[in-house]
Amino acid sequence: MKILTLFSSITEVPSEWRQDFLAEWHHIRYLRARAVAWITLIYPVFTIPLITSKDFLIPESAFSHALTLMSPLGIGIFAVSAYLLFSNKAVSSSRDLKPRNIQATNIYLIGLITLFDAVFAIIWTDSGLNTPYIVGLFIYASLFYRPLKINFIIYIANFLFYIYYISTFSYDFSITNRVVAYFSGILSTGLALVIATSLFGSIASSFVSRRTIEQQAEILRTANTRLNLLANLDGLTQISNRRLFDLHFDQLWQQLGRSNTFLSVLLCDVDFFKRFNDTYGHIAGDHCLKQVAGIIEKSLQRDGDLVARYGGEEFGIILPNTGKEGAVTIAERICQAVRSLEIPHEGSIHGRVTISVGVAWVIPNLDILPEQLLKSADEALYLAKRDGRDCFSCFEVGVRAN
Ligand code: GH3
Ligand code: MG
Ligand code: MG
Repeated sequence: MKILTLFSSITEVPSEWRQDFLAEWHHIRYLRARAVAWITLIYPVFTIPLITSKDFLIPESAFSHALTLMSPLGIGIFAVSAYLLFSNKAVSSSRDLKPRNIQATNIYLIGLITLFDAVFAIIWTDSGLNTPYIVGLFIYASLFYRPLKINFIIYIANFLFYIYYISTFSYDFSITNRVVAYFSGILSTGLALVIATSLFGSIASSFVSRRTIEQQAEILRTANTRLNLLANLDGLTQISNRRLFDLHFDQLWQQLGRSNTFLSVLLCDVDFFKRFNDTYGHIAGDHCLKQVAGIIEKSLQRDGDLVARYGGEEFGIILPNTGKEGAVTIAERICQAVRSLEIPHEGSIHGRVTISVGVAWVIPNLDILPEQLLKSADEALYLAKRDGRDCFSCFEVGVRAN
Protein backbone atom coordinates (compact mmCIF):
# COMPACT_ATOMS: atom_id res chain seq x y z
CA MET A 1 0.00 0.00 0.00
CA LYS A 2 2.82 2.37 0.98
CA ILE A 3 4.54 1.78 -2.32
CA LEU A 4 1.35 2.59 -4.24
CA THR A 5 1.14 5.89 -2.34
CA LEU A 6 4.63 6.66 -3.59
CA PHE A 7 3.56 6.09 -7.19
CA SER A 8 0.28 7.94 -6.92
CA SER A 9 2.08 11.05 -5.60
CA ILE A 10 3.76 11.45 -8.99
CA THR A 11 2.81 14.70 -10.66
CA GLU A 12 0.14 14.51 -13.33
CA VAL A 13 0.98 16.47 -16.46
CA PRO A 14 -2.14 18.47 -17.44
CA SER A 15 -3.59 17.29 -20.73
CA GLU A 16 -2.90 20.56 -22.59
CA TRP A 17 0.83 20.18 -21.88
CA ARG A 18 1.06 16.43 -22.37
CA GLN A 19 2.10 16.66 -26.02
CA ASP A 20 5.02 18.98 -25.19
CA PHE A 21 5.98 16.93 -22.20
CA LEU A 22 6.14 13.72 -24.21
CA ALA A 23 8.24 15.48 -26.83
CA GLU A 24 10.66 16.63 -24.15
CA TRP A 25 10.73 13.25 -22.47
CA HIS A 26 11.46 11.51 -25.77
CA HIS A 27 14.18 14.02 -26.47
CA ILE A 28 15.92 13.34 -23.14
CA ARG A 29 15.71 9.64 -23.88
CA TYR A 30 17.13 10.02 -27.39
CA LEU A 31 20.13 11.80 -25.97
CA ARG A 32 20.68 9.04 -23.41
CA ALA A 33 20.07 6.35 -25.99
CA ARG A 34 22.65 8.08 -28.13
CA ALA A 35 25.16 8.00 -25.30
CA VAL A 36 24.47 4.29 -24.78
CA ALA A 37 24.85 3.60 -28.49
CA TRP A 38 28.25 5.28 -28.41
CA ILE A 39 29.24 3.17 -25.43
CA THR A 40 28.34 -0.01 -27.31
CA LEU A 41 30.68 1.13 -30.08
CA ILE A 42 33.55 1.96 -27.76
CA TYR A 43 33.01 -0.94 -25.32
CA PRO A 44 34.74 -3.68 -27.40
CA VAL A 45 37.93 -1.61 -27.53
CA PHE A 46 38.31 -2.12 -23.78
CA THR A 47 36.71 -5.51 -23.31
CA ILE A 48 38.40 -7.50 -26.06
CA PRO A 49 41.92 -7.18 -24.53
CA LEU A 50 40.41 -7.90 -21.09
CA ILE A 51 38.50 -11.00 -22.10
CA THR A 52 41.42 -12.42 -24.06
CA SER A 53 43.85 -11.97 -21.16
CA LYS A 54 44.84 -15.04 -19.16
CA ASP A 55 43.88 -13.56 -15.79
CA PHE A 56 40.21 -13.18 -16.69
CA LEU A 57 38.24 -14.44 -13.71
CA ILE A 58 35.17 -16.16 -15.16
CA PRO A 59 35.00 -19.96 -14.85
CA GLU A 60 36.12 -21.57 -18.10
CA SER A 61 32.82 -23.35 -18.87
CA ALA A 62 30.66 -20.28 -18.33
CA PHE A 63 33.08 -18.17 -20.30
CA SER A 64 33.03 -20.27 -23.46
CA HIS A 65 29.28 -20.64 -23.13
CA ALA A 66 28.97 -16.84 -22.96
CA LEU A 67 31.47 -16.21 -25.70
CA THR A 68 29.73 -18.36 -28.30
CA LEU A 69 26.52 -16.53 -27.49
CA MET A 70 28.06 -13.10 -27.20
CA SER A 71 30.19 -12.92 -30.30
CA PRO A 72 27.36 -12.82 -32.85
CA LEU A 73 25.27 -10.71 -30.44
CA GLY A 74 28.14 -8.29 -29.88
CA ILE A 75 28.69 -7.88 -33.60
CA GLY A 76 24.95 -7.42 -34.09
CA ILE A 77 24.70 -4.76 -31.38
CA PHE A 78 27.77 -3.01 -32.74
CA ALA A 79 26.30 -2.93 -36.25
CA VAL A 80 22.83 -1.75 -35.15
CA SER A 81 24.29 0.97 -32.88
CA ALA A 82 26.60 2.18 -35.62
CA TYR A 83 23.76 2.26 -38.14
CA LEU A 84 21.41 4.19 -35.83
CA LEU A 85 24.11 6.63 -34.75
CA PHE A 86 25.35 7.46 -38.20
CA SER A 87 22.02 7.44 -39.99
CA ASN A 88 20.91 9.81 -37.21
CA LYS A 89 17.35 8.54 -37.44
CA ALA A 90 16.28 6.80 -34.27
CA VAL A 91 18.97 7.42 -31.69
CA SER A 92 19.12 11.07 -32.56
CA SER A 93 19.85 14.42 -30.99
CA SER A 94 17.06 15.93 -33.07
CA ARG A 95 14.03 17.31 -31.22
CA ASP A 96 11.35 16.31 -33.68
CA LEU A 97 11.45 12.70 -34.65
CA LYS A 98 8.64 10.84 -36.39
CA PRO A 99 6.66 8.26 -34.36
CA ARG A 100 8.40 5.59 -36.42
CA ASN A 101 11.80 6.77 -35.17
CA ILE A 102 10.56 6.96 -31.58
CA GLN A 103 9.44 3.35 -31.86
CA ALA A 104 12.82 2.37 -33.29
CA THR A 105 14.59 4.06 -30.36
CA ASN A 106 12.38 2.21 -27.87
CA ILE A 107 12.91 -1.14 -29.51
CA TYR A 108 16.64 -0.52 -29.64
CA LEU A 109 16.84 0.33 -25.93
CA ILE A 110 14.60 -2.46 -24.71
CA GLY A 111 16.35 -4.96 -26.94
CA LEU A 112 19.79 -3.79 -25.88
CA ILE A 113 19.08 -3.91 -22.17
CA THR A 114 17.31 -7.25 -22.32
CA LEU A 115 20.30 -8.73 -24.13
CA PHE A 116 22.63 -7.06 -21.71
CA ASP A 117 20.76 -8.53 -18.76
CA ALA A 118 20.47 -11.92 -20.39
CA VAL A 119 24.20 -12.07 -21.04
CA PHE A 120 25.00 -11.05 -17.50
CA ALA A 121 22.58 -13.63 -16.21
CA ILE A 122 24.30 -16.29 -18.33
CA ILE A 123 27.81 -15.38 -17.32
CA TRP A 124 27.41 -14.48 -13.70
CA THR A 125 24.55 -16.44 -12.31
CA ASP A 126 26.35 -19.60 -13.35
CA SER A 127 29.01 -18.55 -10.90
CA GLY A 128 26.35 -17.79 -8.29
CA LEU A 129 26.92 -14.06 -8.48
CA ASN A 130 24.25 -11.84 -10.03
CA THR A 131 25.37 -8.41 -8.85
CA PRO A 132 26.21 -7.20 -12.39
CA TYR A 133 22.74 -8.24 -13.49
CA ILE A 134 21.25 -6.09 -10.76
CA VAL A 135 23.57 -3.19 -11.59
CA GLY A 136 22.50 -3.51 -15.23
CA LEU A 137 18.88 -3.35 -14.17
CA PHE A 138 19.52 -0.18 -12.16
CA ILE A 139 21.42 1.46 -14.99
CA TYR A 140 18.49 0.67 -17.23
CA ALA A 141 16.08 2.06 -14.67
CA SER A 142 17.97 5.32 -14.31
CA LEU A 143 18.46 5.79 -18.04
CA PHE A 144 15.19 4.72 -19.60
CA TYR A 145 12.53 5.49 -17.08
CA ARG A 146 8.92 5.39 -18.16
CA PRO A 147 5.42 5.82 -16.77
CA LEU A 148 4.45 3.30 -14.12
CA LYS A 149 2.30 1.07 -16.28
CA ILE A 150 4.99 0.49 -18.92
CA ASN A 151 7.61 0.03 -16.20
CA PHE A 152 5.56 -2.77 -14.70
CA ILE A 153 5.39 -4.58 -18.00
CA ILE A 154 9.10 -4.19 -18.71
CA TYR A 155 10.38 -5.19 -15.31
CA ILE A 156 7.98 -8.03 -14.75
CA ALA A 157 8.90 -9.40 -18.20
CA ASN A 158 12.54 -8.98 -17.31
CA PHE A 159 12.04 -10.77 -14.03
CA LEU A 160 10.14 -13.65 -15.60
CA PHE A 161 13.01 -14.13 -18.02
CA TYR A 162 15.41 -14.14 -15.11
CA ILE A 163 13.38 -16.76 -13.20
CA TYR A 164 13.09 -18.85 -16.32
CA TYR A 165 16.79 -18.69 -16.92
CA ILE A 166 17.68 -19.74 -13.38
CA SER A 167 15.31 -22.67 -13.64
CA THR A 168 17.05 -23.97 -16.76
CA PHE A 169 20.46 -24.36 -15.13
CA SER A 170 21.72 -27.79 -15.93
CA TYR A 171 24.62 -27.94 -13.52
CA ASP A 172 24.59 -28.18 -9.77
CA PHE A 173 23.20 -24.94 -8.40
CA SER A 174 22.82 -25.15 -4.62
CA ILE A 175 19.45 -24.42 -3.06
CA THR A 176 20.93 -21.54 -1.04
CA ASN A 177 22.30 -19.96 -4.21
CA ARG A 178 18.96 -20.44 -5.88
CA VAL A 179 17.06 -18.76 -3.01
CA VAL A 180 19.55 -15.90 -2.94
CA ALA A 181 19.19 -15.49 -6.70
CA TYR A 182 15.38 -15.41 -6.53
CA PHE A 183 15.36 -13.08 -3.59
CA SER A 184 17.84 -10.62 -5.06
CA GLY A 185 15.96 -10.80 -8.37
CA ILE A 186 12.71 -9.80 -6.69
CA LEU A 187 14.39 -7.07 -4.66
CA SER A 188 16.30 -5.59 -7.57
CA THR A 189 13.30 -5.69 -9.89
CA GLY A 190 11.23 -3.88 -7.27
CA LEU A 191 13.93 -1.29 -6.68
CA ALA A 192 14.45 -0.73 -10.40
CA LEU A 193 10.73 -0.18 -10.72
CA VAL A 194 10.80 2.42 -7.96
CA ILE A 195 13.86 4.18 -9.41
CA ALA A 196 12.49 4.28 -12.95
CA THR A 197 9.03 5.44 -11.91
CA SER A 198 10.34 8.07 -9.47
CA LEU A 199 12.68 9.45 -12.10
CA PHE A 200 9.81 9.69 -14.52
CA GLY A 201 7.81 11.47 -11.82
CA SER A 202 10.62 13.88 -11.12
CA ILE A 203 11.01 14.96 -14.74
CA ALA A 204 7.23 15.28 -14.94
CA SER A 205 7.10 17.48 -11.87
CA SER A 206 10.01 19.64 -12.96
CA PHE A 207 8.35 20.02 -16.35
CA VAL A 208 5.05 21.01 -14.72
CA SER A 209 6.66 23.53 -12.38
CA ARG A 210 8.68 25.07 -15.19
CA ARG A 211 5.57 25.32 -17.36
CA THR A 212 3.61 26.86 -14.49
CA ILE A 213 6.27 29.52 -14.02
CA GLU A 214 6.34 30.20 -17.76
CA GLN A 215 2.58 30.49 -17.80
CA GLN A 216 2.57 32.93 -14.91
CA ALA A 217 5.31 34.97 -16.57
CA GLU A 218 3.19 35.09 -19.72
CA ILE A 219 0.16 36.30 -17.74
CA LEU A 220 2.32 38.99 -16.16
CA ARG A 221 3.71 40.03 -19.53
CA THR A 222 0.22 40.35 -20.98
CA ALA A 223 -0.95 42.33 -17.97
CA ASN A 224 2.12 44.53 -18.27
CA THR A 225 1.52 45.20 -21.96
CA ARG A 226 -2.09 46.05 -21.17
CA LEU A 227 -1.09 48.36 -18.35
CA ASN A 228 1.44 50.07 -20.59
CA LEU A 229 -1.24 50.54 -23.20
CA LEU A 230 -3.64 51.94 -20.63
CA ALA A 231 -0.97 54.26 -19.25
CA ASN A 232 -0.57 55.73 -22.74
CA LEU A 233 -4.21 55.88 -23.71
CA ASP A 234 -6.69 58.70 -23.30
CA GLY A 235 -9.76 57.35 -21.53
CA LEU A 236 -12.36 59.38 -23.41
CA THR A 237 -11.16 59.37 -27.00
CA GLN A 238 -9.15 56.11 -26.95
CA ILE A 239 -6.27 57.74 -28.79
CA SER A 240 -2.81 58.29 -27.22
CA ASN A 241 -2.56 60.65 -24.28
CA ARG A 242 -0.28 63.55 -23.52
CA ARG A 243 2.19 61.28 -21.73
CA LEU A 244 2.86 59.24 -24.88
CA PHE A 245 2.92 62.41 -26.99
CA ASP A 246 5.72 63.82 -24.82
CA LEU A 247 7.67 60.54 -24.82
CA HIS A 248 7.36 60.08 -28.57
CA PHE A 249 8.27 63.71 -29.19
CA ASP A 250 11.45 63.53 -27.08
CA GLN A 251 12.51 60.29 -28.71
CA LEU A 252 11.99 61.59 -32.23
CA TRP A 253 13.78 64.81 -31.43
CA GLN A 254 16.95 62.85 -30.56
CA GLN A 255 16.59 60.41 -33.41
CA LEU A 256 15.82 62.88 -36.21
CA GLY A 257 18.49 65.27 -34.95
CA ARG A 258 21.04 62.54 -35.60
CA SER A 259 19.70 61.71 -39.05
CA ASN A 260 19.25 65.39 -39.97
CA THR A 261 15.61 65.05 -41.04
CA PHE A 262 12.50 67.16 -40.52
CA LEU A 263 10.09 66.81 -37.67
CA SER A 264 6.66 68.46 -37.89
CA VAL A 265 4.14 69.14 -35.17
CA LEU A 266 0.48 70.07 -35.63
CA LEU A 267 -1.66 71.41 -32.81
CA CYS A 268 -5.42 71.23 -33.45
CA ASP A 269 -8.09 72.95 -31.39
CA VAL A 270 -11.85 72.57 -31.77
CA ASP A 271 -13.45 75.91 -32.64
CA PHE A 272 -15.97 77.50 -30.25
CA PHE A 273 -16.09 74.36 -28.21
CA LYS A 274 -17.19 76.10 -25.04
CA ARG A 275 -20.29 77.22 -26.87
CA PHE A 276 -20.84 73.68 -28.18
CA ASN A 277 -20.93 72.41 -24.60
CA ASP A 278 -23.18 75.22 -23.55
CA THR A 279 -25.62 74.51 -26.39
CA TYR A 280 -25.68 70.73 -26.55
CA GLY A 281 -24.40 69.73 -23.13
CA HIS A 282 -21.20 68.06 -21.93
CA ILE A 283 -22.20 64.56 -22.94
CA ALA A 284 -22.73 65.65 -26.54
CA GLY A 285 -19.41 67.54 -26.21
CA ASP A 286 -17.63 64.35 -25.17
CA HIS A 287 -19.20 62.46 -28.06
CA CYS A 288 -18.08 65.18 -30.47
CA LEU A 289 -14.49 64.98 -29.16
CA LYS A 290 -14.48 61.21 -29.75
CA GLN A 291 -15.62 61.68 -33.34
CA VAL A 292 -13.03 64.38 -34.01
CA ALA A 293 -10.25 62.26 -32.47
CA GLY A 294 -11.33 59.26 -34.54
CA ILE A 295 -11.37 61.12 -37.85
CA ILE A 296 -7.98 62.74 -37.21
CA GLU A 297 -6.48 59.37 -36.40
CA LYS A 298 -7.93 57.95 -39.61
CA SER A 299 -6.41 60.78 -41.64
CA LEU A 300 -2.86 59.82 -40.65
CA GLN A 301 -1.43 57.08 -42.77
CA ARG A 302 2.23 56.66 -42.01
CA ASP A 303 3.48 54.30 -39.32
CA GLY A 304 5.50 56.78 -37.29
CA ASP A 305 2.73 59.42 -37.20
CA LEU A 306 1.07 59.95 -33.85
CA VAL A 307 -2.05 61.80 -32.75
CA ALA A 308 -2.68 62.37 -29.06
CA ARG A 309 -5.15 64.24 -26.93
CA TYR A 310 -3.00 67.18 -26.01
CA GLY A 311 -5.38 68.99 -23.70
CA GLY A 312 -9.17 69.38 -23.20
CA GLU A 313 -10.34 69.88 -26.81
CA GLU A 314 -6.87 70.04 -28.31
CA PHE A 315 -5.08 67.36 -30.26
CA GLY A 316 -1.35 67.15 -30.99
CA ILE A 317 0.06 65.42 -34.06
CA ILE A 318 3.67 64.39 -34.56
CA LEU A 319 4.91 63.70 -38.08
CA PRO A 320 8.46 62.34 -38.29
CA ASN A 321 10.47 62.68 -41.53
CA THR A 322 7.99 65.32 -42.65
CA GLY A 323 8.76 68.91 -43.67
CA LYS A 324 6.54 71.83 -44.60
CA GLU A 325 4.93 70.30 -47.65
CA GLY A 326 3.85 67.07 -45.95
CA ALA A 327 2.73 68.86 -42.79
CA VAL A 328 0.57 71.31 -44.76
CA THR A 329 -1.03 68.46 -46.71
CA ILE A 330 -1.97 66.76 -43.43
CA ALA A 331 -3.28 70.02 -41.91
CA GLU A 332 -5.52 70.58 -44.92
CA ARG A 333 -6.66 66.98 -44.88
CA ILE A 334 -7.69 66.95 -41.22
CA CYS A 335 -9.50 70.33 -41.42
CA GLN A 336 -11.46 68.89 -44.33
CA ALA A 337 -12.05 65.60 -42.53
CA VAL A 338 -13.52 67.30 -39.43
CA ARG A 339 -15.65 69.53 -41.62
CA SER A 340 -16.95 66.46 -43.44
CA LEU A 341 -18.20 65.02 -40.15
CA GLU A 342 -20.92 67.66 -40.47
CA ILE A 343 -21.62 67.84 -36.75
CA PRO A 344 -24.11 70.73 -36.35
CA HIS A 345 -22.85 73.62 -34.22
CA GLU A 346 -25.25 76.56 -33.86
CA GLY A 347 -22.76 78.63 -31.87
CA SER A 348 -20.09 78.53 -34.59
CA ILE A 349 -19.84 81.01 -37.45
CA HIS A 350 -19.34 77.96 -39.69
CA GLY A 351 -22.55 76.27 -38.55
CA ARG A 352 -20.77 72.97 -37.88
CA VAL A 353 -17.90 71.66 -35.80
CA THR A 354 -14.54 72.70 -37.22
CA ILE A 355 -10.95 72.80 -36.03
CA SER A 356 -8.08 75.20 -36.37
CA VAL A 357 -4.57 73.88 -36.84
CA GLY A 358 -1.12 75.30 -36.08
CA VAL A 359 1.72 73.79 -38.09
CA ALA A 360 5.43 73.98 -37.31
CA TRP A 361 8.46 72.03 -38.53
CA VAL A 362 12.20 71.96 -37.99
CA ILE A 363 15.27 69.79 -38.37
CA PRO A 364 16.11 69.12 -34.71
CA ASN A 365 19.50 70.58 -33.79
CA LEU A 366 21.49 71.70 -30.81
CA ASP A 367 20.72 75.41 -31.32
CA ILE A 368 16.99 74.88 -30.79
CA LEU A 369 15.17 73.62 -27.74
CA PRO A 370 12.49 71.00 -28.42
CA GLU A 371 9.92 73.21 -26.65
CA GLN A 372 10.46 75.83 -29.33
CA LEU A 373 8.87 73.60 -31.93
CA LEU A 374 5.79 73.13 -29.74
CA LYS A 375 5.68 76.82 -28.98
CA SER A 376 5.82 77.63 -32.69
CA ALA A 377 2.95 75.27 -33.42
CA ASP A 378 0.99 76.93 -30.63
CA GLU A 379 1.68 80.37 -32.08
CA ALA A 380 0.61 79.16 -35.50
CA LEU A 381 -2.61 77.84 -33.95
CA TYR A 382 -3.23 81.25 -32.41
CA LEU A 383 -2.81 82.81 -35.87
CA ALA A 384 -5.29 80.33 -37.39
CA LYS A 385 -7.82 81.28 -34.70
CA ARG A 386 -7.24 84.93 -35.43
CA ASP A 387 -7.66 84.34 -39.17
CA GLY A 388 -11.25 83.17 -38.66
CA ARG A 389 -10.80 79.49 -37.57
CA ASP A 390 -11.53 76.35 -39.67
CA CYS A 391 -8.11 76.80 -41.24
CA PHE A 392 -4.42 76.25 -40.55
CA SER A 393 -1.38 78.47 -40.14
CA CYS A 394 2.31 77.69 -40.41
CA PHE A 395 5.23 78.82 -38.36
CA GLU A 396 8.72 77.73 -39.28
CA VAL A 397 10.81 77.59 -36.15
CA GLY A 398 13.26 80.44 -35.92
CA VAL A 399 11.90 82.14 -39.09
CA ARG A 400 8.54 83.81 -39.26
CA ALA A 401 4.85 83.17 -39.37
CA ASN A 402 2.84 82.87 -42.57
P1 GH3 B 1 -11.82 78.60 -29.58
O1 GH3 B 1 -12.48 78.48 -30.90
O2 GH3 B 1 -11.11 79.86 -29.41
O3 GH3 B 1 -10.94 77.42 -29.34
O4 GH3 B 1 -12.99 78.56 -28.53
P2 GH3 B 1 -13.22 77.45 -27.43
O5 GH3 B 1 -14.54 77.67 -26.86
O6 GH3 B 1 -13.00 76.12 -28.01
O7 GH3 B 1 -12.04 77.77 -26.45
P3 GH3 B 1 -11.75 77.41 -24.97
O8 GH3 B 1 -10.35 76.88 -24.87
O9 GH3 B 1 -12.07 78.63 -24.19
O10 GH3 B 1 -12.73 76.29 -24.56
C1 GH3 B 1 -12.40 74.95 -24.52
C2 GH3 B 1 -13.56 74.24 -23.94
O11 GH3 B 1 -13.46 72.88 -24.17
C3 GH3 B 1 -13.66 74.40 -22.45
C4 GH3 B 1 -14.20 73.09 -21.94
O12 GH3 B 1 -15.52 73.24 -21.49
C5 GH3 B 1 -14.24 72.26 -23.17
N1 GH3 B 1 -13.68 70.97 -22.89
C6 GH3 B 1 -12.39 70.66 -22.58
N2 GH3 B 1 -12.26 69.36 -22.34
C7 GH3 B 1 -13.50 68.82 -22.51
C8 GH3 B 1 -14.01 67.47 -22.43
O13 GH3 B 1 -13.30 66.51 -22.13
N3 GH3 B 1 -15.32 67.28 -22.67
C9 GH3 B 1 -16.11 68.30 -22.99
N4 GH3 B 1 -17.40 68.04 -23.25
N5 GH3 B 1 -15.68 69.56 -23.08
C10 GH3 B 1 -14.40 69.82 -22.87
MG1 MG C 1 -8.54 75.16 -26.38
MG1 MG D 1 -11.20 75.51 -28.81
